[in-house]
Amino acid sequence: MVNLPWQSTNKRSLKAVVFRYATSLLEMAVCCAKPSYLLEVAMEKFYWYDECVNCHQGRLIITEDITNKRLYLHCEECEYGWLDPSHAGDVGDGFLTLLEEFETQNPSMEVIRKYGWESFARHEFSE
Ligand SMILES: [Zn+2]
Repeated sequence: MVNLPWQSTNKRSLKAVVFRYATSLLEMAVCCAKPSYLLEVAMEKFYWYDECVNCHQGRLIITEDITNKRLYLHCEECEYGWLDPSHAGDVGDGFLTLLEEFETQNPSMEVIRKYGWESFARHEFSE
């Protein structure tokens, strides 16, 4: 009976400590939710050549066709593709990439250089 007030005070302060600890943990979680360094790692760099002449909306992104081991320009909007950038101004020389079966990936600048396409990487963006 004599110890009860002390115990309850102690419990209260323990609760306060836990609460403060939980709050700081929460704050830490909130500010660590999107660390900038992680965001940069998750961001992918894309290189593109010019505006698409087919839809006039999309960018012609340099895309690697890993099935046929070549690069081509891929419109992000209308899914049209051009194998030869020098013909990318001609809609008739393009093809609908959806009709072809091949695996693609976004090439790094190193890969683009390997194919000698660096002059076609006129613009870039990260996403
Ligand atoms: Zn297009």
